[in-house]
Amino acid sequence: MARITSPICRKCRREGVKLFLKGERCFSAKCAFVRRSYAPGMHGANSRSRNSQYASQLREKQKAKIVYGILEKQFRRYYEQMKRKGGTESMLSLIEKRIDNVIFRMGFAVSRRAARQMVLHGKFTVNGRKLSIPSAQLKLGDKVAVKGAEKNKDLSKNVKDNLKRTTPVSWIKVDVEALTGEITSLPKKEDIGEDINEKLIIEYYSR
Ligand code: SF4
Repeated sequence: MARITSPICRKCRREGVKLFLKGERCFSAKCAFVRRSYAPGMHGANSRSRNSQYASQLREKQKAKIVYGILEKQFRRYYEQMKRKGGTESMLSLIEKRIDNVIFRMGFAVSRRAARQMVLHGKFTVNGRKLSIPSAQLKLGDKVAVKGAEKNKDLSKNVKDNLKRTTPVSWIKVDVEALTGEITSLPKKEDIGEDINEKLIIEYYSR
């Protein structure tokens, strides 16, 4: 299964913003963006960004792809899906419903990357059935549970810590002690809590 393999901290430095891709490290002094907050590469420290409309659309699209850990082909599919739905659901809300993102939002993983790995390893069930496809989209009312939660009581503390670090979202309910979560409403633009300008991404794809 295709995934992003290039050095991840360079992405934050390229976008000029902390994207919180590595979990705990992002909150420590070891964060590469804190230590070198300029673009990567030999000329990174002296590089000047272009301010054209196209450049800002492209950068916004790249940033969103990195935040959610999605490659170009699949990311574009979310744009096509949004169009097919006649714009009734935003592109970001379709992406938010991916199980890897939902696991991260529920605090069961420290980052989306970690969530993806855990999903691939079959650590979660949805409505009582194992689901190990990170891109699977969940629906309203779906119930997520950590497999073998009764043997994994230490995880509750980690979940509390993870939830403290992430932006709370209103469309998900989590039971930290039972290690379960539920989708209680569909994510709306204002609930998404990521600093991404979806309009620029749509403009990029509709050129
Ligand atoms: Fe980005 Fe986290 Fe790496 Fe810092 S540690 S540069 S926030 S991925």
